[in-house]
This record gives sequence, C-alpha cells and structure tokens, in this order.
Amino acid sequence: MPARARSSWPRARAPGPPRGGTGPAAAVARPARATPSQIAPASPREIASPGLLPGNRAILRTVRDLVEMAPRATGTPGGRQAAAYVARRFRAAGLSNVHYETARSYRWTPSDWGVSVGGRRFDTRPISHSFIRGADLAGTRTLGRRGVTAPVVDIGAGSVAGRDVRGKIVLFDLKFQMPLAVIAAASEFLYDPDLQLVDPETMLTANPYMTSLKTVMQEAIDGGAVGVVGVLADYFDSNRYHNEYYGSVPMTIPGFWVTKKEGAALRHSLETSSRATIRLTAERAAATGRTVVGFLPGRSRDTILIQSHHDSQGPGAVEDGTGAAEVIALADYYGALARRPGYRKPEKTLMFATFDTHFTGYQQHNAFTRKYVLGTKSGYRLVANAAIEHVGKQAKIAADGGLRVLDQPEPRGIFENLNPLLKARLAGIIVDNDLRGTAMLNATPMQGTVGIPTDANWALLSGVPVASLIAGPIYMYDEADTLDKVDVASLRPVARAYAQLVDAMQPMPSDLIGLTPTPVSTVIRDLWFQFLGP
Ligand SMILES: [Zn+2]
Repeated sequence: MPARARSSWPRARAPGPPRGGTGPAAAVARPARATPSQIAPASPREIASPGLLPGNRAILRTVRDLVEMAPRATGTPGGRQAAAYVARRFRAAGLSNVHYETARSYRWTPSDWGVSVGGRRFDTRPISHSFIRGADLAGTRTLGRRGVTAPVVDIGAGSVAGRDVRGKIVLFDLKFQMPLAVIAAASEFLYDPDLQLVDPETMLTANPYMTSLKTVMQEAIDGGAVGVVGVLADYFDSNRYHNEYYGSVPMTIPGFWVTKKEGAALRHSLETSSRATIRLTAERAAATGRTVVGFLPGRSRDTILIQSHHDSQGPGAVEDGTGAAEVIALADYYGALARRPGYRKPEKTLMFATFDTHFTGYQQHNAFTRKYVLGTKSGYRLVANAAIEHVGKQAKIAADGGLRVLDQPEPRGIFENLNPLLKARLAGIIVDNDLRGTAMLNATPMQGTVGIPTDANWALLSGVPVASLIAGPIYMYDEADTLDKVDVASLRPVARAYAQLVDAMQPMPSDLIGLTPTPVSTVIRDLWFQFLGP
C-alpha cells in the first residue's frame, strides 16, 4: 500500500449540516463520517512521484497570472497574451512540439448601448454576440445615435409563439433550465460525505449556461422583432452576465440584459409608456483562435489529451483560469517526471492543450477534432480526453439578491464514458482525493445524441472516450468570477486525481479505454456525423 500524501487532503473542516431547515434534507440524519479508505471502491494507486506535483498555492499562482491578463477574449491582446503564456509554461515544463493550432473565430465588441422608456435610462449590458450579421460574417452594425423606438411585448418566462412581435421589442425572463437535480439523474457514483448535494436549495440551483436564450432569440428573430431585452430572472444582482456565443442561433438582432430589480423597474415604466428605445453598436471582427498544444512522447502515438481552455470574457478566474492552471500543473508534473534519471517512457503519448474560442463559437474545437480525431495525417491517435474545467467555490443567491459564496466546492460532475475498470478506478480516485460533492455522470447515452456541456464535447461526439470534470457555479460568466472564487483547497487534489486517472489509462489497450470499444464508437460517430452533423 503506497503511503498517502496527507498534504493532498487539505480540507480538514466539513461544512455544516444541510441548510434550509424545513426541506427533506433536514430530516436526514448526518451519518458518521466515513474515512475515504472505508468508502474507496477501488485502489487508485499513488502517482509515481507525488513530490513533483505542484501544490495548491503554486497552481493558484498560475490562475493569478492568467487573471492578470484578463479579459482573455479570443482575438484580443489578453487572449494573445494568455496563449503565449501557456506556450511558455508548456516549454518550461519540457513539452515538445509546443505550438498553436489556429482557426478563424471572431471578436465581438459592443459600444454605445442603452435602453430607455419615456426618457428614463435603464442600467443594461448588451447580450454578448448579439446584433451580428450572421454565423460566419464580420462587420459593424449600429442602431444609430438615436436608436430605435418600438412597442414592447412582454412574454415573461413564456414563449413568443402566437404573438405578433414584428417590428417590436421582446421583453423576456431568462430562465436557467438545468438544475443540478436533472444532471444528477445521470449520476453513476456520488461522493458526498457532507450531504452537500441533497440540500434542496443546492439541488434546485441551475447552472448559468443551459438557458432559454437560444429559444427566445430564435423565436424573436423568426417573428421579425427588432430587439430583445432579457431580465436575468434566475441570477444574482448583476447584469455583467457574459453569455457564450451559441452557434446554432446566430443572434442577428440586438439584445440587452437587465437585472431582476432593474427589470421590475423597466416593467413598471412600461405601464405608462408601452414603447422603449434601444441603442447598440456592435463590431464583429474576424480573429484567430489560438489553441496551445504540447507533447510528451510515449512509446506509441496513441495519445491521451489533457485539456482545458484559456480564453475568458471577464476575469475568468474559475472559468477557466483554474482549468488551464490544472493542465499546466499536470504538464509540469509529467515534464519533471520525464527528466528524472531512469525515466522510462510510458506506452501512450501525452498531449496537453488549452483551447481558445470557447466563448466565440468553438471553431478551434471543430478544427482540432477534424485534424486530430477525424483526420489521419496528424501522426497522433487520440485514445482518451481528460478535461478539467471550473475548480470553484460554491455560490448561491442570497436573500437580498446578492452573491453568497460558500467555503466549499461547487458541486462538480465528471462526465465519462470509460470502461468498467476505469469507472471503478475513477470512483476510488474521487474518494482518495477527497473530492467532495463530486458525481460521476454517465456520458455514454450522450455520445451521438445531446453531447455534454463541456469543452470535451467534440471529443465525445467524435468517438474519443472522455473524463470531463466540470462545475457550473452561478458566477462563472460574470465579472464576479474573480480569484477569491477559486476553490484553492481542491487545486492539487484535482491535479492528483487526473494524474492517477491518466496513469490508470496508460497500460490499458487503447481501444478498450471507453465503455464502447473504439471500432463500435467509430460507427456511432459516423452515423451521428452523417445524420445530425456537428
Ligand atoms: Zn470552462
């Protein structure tokens, strides 16, 4: 039995019993705390040299470096700086063939915006990536200095369907559609010694990336609306909500966000004057997405990809300064291991990557998949994708509407379609690293259907087995995603967990890493690409 590194179990204190004294969780007696070794379903094995793995503080320093360059948006100086930084770190770690994989994406810059009713101006922010010419089009659009004045149709949380919105402004409540309870249904294994997840408030909290925006926007465009105003109904008291670009619905009309409070004031004003004036100028410029890659050669070209993304729209400390910092920490670890005397190359090559274009259309993910997964000329064969995103503290909406940050990890999931042996191993690894509030989520039914809401989606859909860690803290798209939100105590444990998982994949036959053997997986992929397409 290898010695346990106590230092990697830094979270000494357990959070209090479930909150919300009247919910069903309150009736659940708190069980005696089992030690991880009592629960661990499979022996995870220590990594080769735990001393070489960076500690929490070192990984946090990388996050801080990345936050200092923010916003690291695609095609901006911050984005270029972040890519150059990761490349420098990869080279310093000893990786070979460090370079950029590039793809055409877009930079979107709003200016001169406003929403007013009867002369009163409301505090708004443009909906990111709205008022563009089309999916693959650059250019500047403007409503002019005077803007456009039009009647407002308030659909609340409902639908545009059946209403005449032509030439009008649609006012809607943005709903976050996927509470944790829904995601938890895909759970295969749950490590939750603090009963953090059975807290009803936690279970009903929805992540901010699966929302009603696409549907409402599509309906508004189809109906001929001139713009939309979204009330951030499920959000804390902020309008600095930087939604992603949703490629399936290019937002060709202008859009604006208001907070719940400001939305109420806006609705109040609309009782006396049913028309609003909107103003927006939005510039969309072609930009080069730069994904940074580097390699640590194994004996074969069968390759395990260790991945996150470095771009951000705001400070991006948790989303995804932490993911990028974890990838760099693992590059440092494996690079240092390779420099030790007597080092023997493992079977599989390791490829490290931090992606770009996560917020602007995932063009780089598509290009990368075409080259390294579907293509045959890269010289590498991707056999697994270990992805890490969002190592953050849990946050809830306080009674006063503000953001309440808790000193415990945001509940996290690892979407995976691994073989049964690796599933058992991963469960053991989660416990061994005390990754509290973590669920293993079965991604097999999602391959070739709905996909997964993570950076590893393209790998999954193209038949590569994945283990993709993610959390959906409510502040992740916000200016509030600052360094203090990082779940520092989890940084090294997450890195160690992923090193253990990668090590467990090394001796396995590549075609059997996934739950579905690779040849079958390829058939599913081909069918999917043929009939549905990415
Ligand atoms: Zn992310």
